[in-house]
Amino acid sequence: MTDRDIFTRYLSPQQLIELEACTQCGECLKYCPVQTVTGRPSISPPEKIRMFREFIKATSGLKARLFGPPEAGAIDRALLEDFVKAVYECTACGACGQNCTVGIFTQRLWPVLRREMVKRGLGPIGPQANLPKAIERTGNPYDKPAADRFNSWFPENVRVSEKADIGYYAGCTGAYESHPMVKGDALVLGSSGEPFTMLSPEDEVCCGFPLFITGQHDMLEDLIKRLVEAYKSKGIKVLVCSCPCCVNIMSRDWPLFYGRELPFKIRHITQFAVDALNNGKLTIKKELRERLIYHDPCYLSRGVGIIEEPRSILRSIPGVSLVEFDLHGFNSRCCGAGGAARKVFHDNAVAMGRLTIDEAVEKKADRLIISCPACHAKMHEAMQGHDRQIRITDIMELLASLL
Ligand code: SF4
Ligand code: SF4
Repeated sequence: MTDRDIFTRYLSPQQLIELEACTQCGECLKYCPVQTVTGRPSISPPEKIRMFREFIKATSGLKARLFGPPEAGAIDRALLEDFVKAVYECTACGACGQNCTVGIFTQRLWPVLRREMVKRGLGPIGPQANLPKAIERTGNPYDKPAADRFNSWFPENVRVSEKADIGYYAGCTGAYESHPMVKGDALVLGSSGEPFTMLSPEDEVCCGFPLFITGQHDMLEDLIKRLVEAYKSKGIKVLVCSCPCCVNIMSRDWPLFYGRELPFKIRHITQFAVDALNNGKLTIKKELRERLIYHDPCYLSRGVGIIEEPRSILRSIPGVSLVEFDLHGFNSRCCGAGGAARKVFHDNAVAMGRLTIDEAVEKKADRLIISCPACHAKMHEAMQGHDRQIRITDIMELLASLL
């Protein structure tokens, strides 16, 4: 790599155009949860884009071309550090892109800028740097023993087939940090009567999302090929998963890293459950006289457009009344856990989680329903020591309890 293309080498033409396209109009600021809780301009989407343009100009602009790029030290180090922090403090929720007046796809642009930072030794930050080693060692980003992946939550009465058309991927966050959710998945799958298969706890390794989102892409191809081949050998036609980040990377990026179309389809557990309710394989037998509010996970709603299915499940429960957050569906507000920022920028994450909890309480919801293991963990954390409290339930945990 020459110094000339130091800030552009790994960007696609579309991403370069997107960086140029930002008019600095500021429309997206109204939707950025990190802006809301910190009020710091450097984190804002137009400011990040402006700073990145400055770096490109300094290293590959006309002056740099005529007189040679500046020495590495000539780029303002403090500015660079501010920029790196801003890129990693962002939760990569994509709300800015959803409302961008020129259609910049920020849910993709920010992770790509992180990859740029990693390539230059400027990222990742804090404990994110431990992720590749942890995944290499144990198969999961939490560095927990692979053998413990399923044993503390998988329901005894649910049978897993050796081979089946349906494969179930629990995912690391659910398996290690959000047991009610994955237990609910397994109970719903089991109740449907559809045979399903799973990989062994040693073979069900990380989907790659934590590495992707922190810009550490070196292991991705191996990890993804290993998983796709393992499921292929089980003969599955559909891979079902409940974690929005897993579903997102599986649908959007696995084919790219695998090098061709996947030999099976990817479905979110709510899509599976809606079909099973519609074709009579699942029947809701109990009523629930409650006012529920549903939080859309960013990587499920904005990421892959799954908005109606969770609501359809909740509406089909007799007695339920459903209320909405002001920001919902494509405009939902990040719970604070996104972008692998939750363990590095803990205070931001808690403040964002509390915005959601407060609104749910103000709207007099009896329960906050979620469908993401990271939201599950983060919302519970945000309630600790908070004056407002609400019952939080995963959507499959709820459905499983009513069948
Ligand atoms: S992706 Fe989300 S957190 Fe990041 S700048 Fe955009 S709105 Fe803010
Ligand atoms: S809405 Fe789009 S064009 Fe306007 S400042 Fe934000 S990123 Fe730039």
